[in-house]
Amino acid sequence: MSAEAPAPAPAVPAPKEQPAKVFAAAVYECVRCGTRTTQEELAKLPEVKCICGYRVFRKARPAVVKQIKAI
Ligand SMILES: [Zn+2]
Repeated sequence: MSAEAPAPAPAVPAPKEQPAKVFAAAVYECVRCGTRTTQEELAKLPEVKCICGYRVFRKARPAVVKQIKAI
C-alpha cells in the first residue's frame, strides 16, 4: 500500500453574482374580487378587464412581503 497523494481539491468557481431581477411591474387588484394581476398581464389583454368582468382596479403592492418586527 503506497500512500497516494491526496486528490487535489476541485476548484470551486466563485459564485457568479447574478443581478437581482427586480421587475417593477405594477400590480393591480380588482376592487371587486381582489384578483391580483400585473400590468404586464393586463397589457396582453385586449382590454383592461378582470376575470370577473369588473374593470376597476386599484394599485396594489407587488408581491414583496416586508416583515416588520413587532415591538
Ligand atoms: Zn375581479
